[in-house]
Amino acid sequence: MILTTHAVVGAAVAELFPSNPILGFCAAFLSHFVLDAIPHWDYKIKSHKKNPEDPLNGGVKFGKDFIIDLLKVLIDLILGFVLSFLIFSKDGLKNQEIALMGAFAGMFPDALQFAYWIFKTKFLKSIQKIHFAVHQIIEIKPSVFWGIFSQVAIIAIVLFIVLK
Ligand SMILES: [Zn+2]
Repeated sequence: MILTTHAVVGAAVAELFPSNPILGFCAAFLSHFVLDAIPHWDYKIKSHKKNPEDPLNGGVKFGKDFIIDLLKVLIDLILGFVLSFLIFSKDGLKNQEIALMGAFAGMFPDALQFAYWIFKTKFLKSIQKIHFAVHQIIEIKPSVFWGIFSQVAIIAIVLFIVLK
């Protein structure tokens, strides 16, 4: 899913454990894989080089597409942090800190995936294996409209449960 969805859901999950930030971080981190297991839409990352023989072993092609992808990801990332901050801003600083930490933890697996594409270390590979396995359960290709609409709906449902 897109980073904004991972961020807001991660923030919401971390807010469930206000007195235990470590548990909150872990729960938000795990929420990433739960969300990725749901059939969903993602925007294209053109600079990601797929490897048809070994799908786990893709890489990154640096160039013009990489700059465009970087901008897309950066906007998505900032939107995730800003929304998480604003949604959980009404109860003061502690809530906002938890929200930002949860947002970070929720998006973190995608940062690790990117790091894996570049560095390919053993540790990153074991996380990438899990990430890849859950992400490939059912692949769908909805239009951009339905893709975004469904992720907004997921955010709304999670916030409804957490904020009620
Ligand atoms: Zn992911």
